[in-house]
Amino acid sequence: MEKIPLVDLKAQYRAIATQVHQAIDRVIEQQAFIRGSLVENFESRFASFCSTRYCRGVGNGTDAIMLSLMALGVKPGDEVILPVNTFIATAEPIALLGAKPVFVDCQKETYLIDVSAVQQAITDRSKGIIAVDLYGQCPDYDALREICDENGLFLIEDAAQAHGAFYKGRRAGSLGDVACFSFYPGKNLGAYGDGGAITTDDQRLMERISLLSDHGSPQKYIHKIIGTNSRLDAMQAAVLDVKLNYIDKWNQKRRDLAAIYDDALAYIDHIYTPKQAPHCTHVYHLYVIRANRRDELMEFLKDNGIFCGIHYPYPLHLSEAFSYLGYQEDDFPVASCYARRLLSLPIYPELTNEQQLYVIEKIRQFYKGD
Ligand SMILES: *Cc1c(COP(=O)(O)O)cnc(C)c1O
Repeated sequence: MEKIPLVDLKAQYRAIATQVHQAIDRVIEQQAFIRGSLVENFESRFASFCSTRYCRGVGNGTDAIMLSLMALGVKPGDEVILPVNTFIATAEPIALLGAKPVFVDCQKETYLIDVSAVQQAITDRSKGIIAVDLYGQCPDYDALREICDENGLFLIEDAAQAHGAFYKGRRAGSLGDVACFSFYPGKNLGAYGDGGAITTDDQRLMERISLLSDHGSPQKYIHKIIGTNSRLDAMQAAVLDVKLNYIDKWNQKRRDLAAIYDDALAYIDHIYTPKQAPHCTHVYHLYVIRANRRDELMEFLKDNGIFCGIHYPYPLHLSEAFSYLGYQEDDFPVASCYARRLLSLPIYPELTNEQQLYVIEKIRQFYKGD
């Protein structure tokens, strides 16, 4: 049996190789690598895909969050609320701006931000919330919006794991005041290098984000504000433009695979399969189970050529980088407990039925006799 990785980018490349090479060749022939019509074309297509009025390509997903926070005026002393179980990139920009990340625990069944905990985390220093569309599905944005409106907070959607997902028929990317995407190669919509984007309906916010991402410059050598350099380059936009044609189809394939895992694993007492949140179309960036004897299972699967992941082994309050915040391990009991039990199984659109059945069979074998 060949190896089954957590994600297989080569399989996807083989299916679109000709188109990708043509797209990259076009960029090279034009010699227009930074901004330009190719990037603008992708931005406008991605905005329509997300049902938003505006999209700006930026350097990566972390920058997308940083630029959004800057445009929203986050400054030292402010507090920004976010889930404790997310990738560190959701939190870093808050801290880099001198503001304080305020973590909240997650819900037991969906792993998504616990909305009632958000309510309790609000203080008079709170400036906004970053909600995360974790693993490919959206938290309860209607409830979050209500909390934000009542308390005068901004709402940022970290959609880095959820290109193409829906919440109540609305696309991920259109659910906050502003949304942040990553096009890191392994994401559902991945570039061939770093890349990111910001989507919003708010024209003034988008103008500010665009300025910030390009030296505060509406035109060459005119600098209205102090910005930085964080741009999506044309090579990446060209690759993404090809892939955007397939994203819905690929996401459907992920959903089909998730349904097969759901059915096959439901009968194993030692495993909890992931639950879809109400009103959500999950796009399964990751298929995350909770497993008894997780580390042993992972090792057993690896010995059988199956490579899993853990997202994430440390909730952010236990990360050394955030030790200065002074949180205790049991401050977030759900996230702390799950960090020892979560396991991400291989899932990607090109995963064959045969490969998936092999994964399922090996999991069954591991728990046999328990
Ligand atoms: C990947 C990711 C990011 C950061 O994206 P980069 O492009 O790697 O900077 C941010 N938030 C979440 C939830 C992510 O999964």
